[in-house]
Amino acid sequence: MKVGVLGGGQLARMLAIAGKPLGIQLICYESIENPCANSVANIIKGDFNDENALATFAETVDCITLETENIPLTFAEFVAKQRALLPNEFTLKITQDRLYEKECLQSLQIPTAKFHAINTWDDLETALNTFNYPAILKTRKSGYDGKGQAVIHDKQGAVNAWEQLKSHELILESFVNFASEVSLICVRAKNGEVKFYPLVENEHREGILRLSKAPFIHPILQKKAENYANTLVTHFNYIGVMAIEFFVMGNELIANEIAPRVHNSGHFTIEGARTSQFENHLRAICGLPLGSTETIGFSAMYNLIGEEPVREKILSIPNTYYHSYGKAARPGRKLGHITINALSEDALNDSVANYLKIIK
Ligand code: AMP
Repeated sequence: MKVGVLGGGQLARMLAIAGKPLGIQLICYESIENPCANSVANIIKGDFNDENALATFAETVDCITLETENIPLTFAEFVAKQRALLPNEFTLKITQDRLYEKECLQSLQIPTAKFHAINTWDDLETALNTFNYPAILKTRKSGYDGKGQAVIHDKQGAVNAWEQLKSHELILESFVNFASEVSLICVRAKNGEVKFYPLVENEHREGILRLSKAPFIHPILQKKAENYANTLVTHFNYIGVMAIEFFVMGNELIANEIAPRVHNSGHFTIEGARTSQFENHLRAICGLPLGSTETIGFSAMYNLIGEEPVREKILSIPNTYYHSYGKAARPGRKLGHITINALSEDALNDSVANYLKIIK
């Protein structure tokens, strides 16, 4: 089986690694020279508007999936005419635009922050009159890792945010005073079966995910998250892995974002679950039975951002796993991740304390 991936970054790389034991070969469509999936997948180089390169790519593979939702819709529609695109282009249209996404969540009765479409300065002033400060102005499209966002604390902040972002289509969101952030990773098979991983607790700094801990054990929230996820995957007729990020407010979940793909907060599943999110995504889109989503003990996943630590020291911590993406170091860039696994929460906390000492 040959699976095509739109993009050749670390998510494609980890999908390709997961495909090896299953005999699934990955072929990535990527515009940059030497993408990080290079060493484990075949690459077809092409831009999003290069229909010839794309036709070659589509002919080579059995189905096509993606590692980013930030691809032009016309391109996704073109791809979908040649080979099954999983997840489908309807899902992509909704999830690549924060406004459509929030409207969709609202229509399905899934709670979100208050939001308002912003096209002019007047829209922003009017919306701010009905929102309390702080509020967040975000680009509707192409935002990731906190890029294209500005928190507004007062009138002057609104002027600055507008100047910074006004060339984009925008959305204003109320600021959610959350207790914590969690995500739910789920997977839906071609026969409609849906499996859920336990909730993951996430810590972000400067809009970038730093740490994920799993499982986040909270039966009420787990049930709510699974119900919301089930509603979404059914609505989209979704095939593959989907991640939903939530803010936690007491016993309520406020949906922030849907990722129609494998997700950074699910990396712990490589060692911390019976079947990784990468393998389950491939199983789903290839029509294979889904694997167990049961977690193994307790896991903490740290992103390696901007620089990589000395591996020898890190790997001396029991049940610690190092994933380097083979990327050149650059400030703010995700270069790899580390997963620490333990059979008890206490043992995990000891290993995490050890890890934090080492990286200091
Ligand atoms: P996003 O790009 O929407 O996933 O935002 C990145 C991070 O910014 C989130 O994980 C939160 O930590 C924070 N954030 C985004 N939107 C809001 C909001 N409406 N209220 C509070 N924090 C937010």
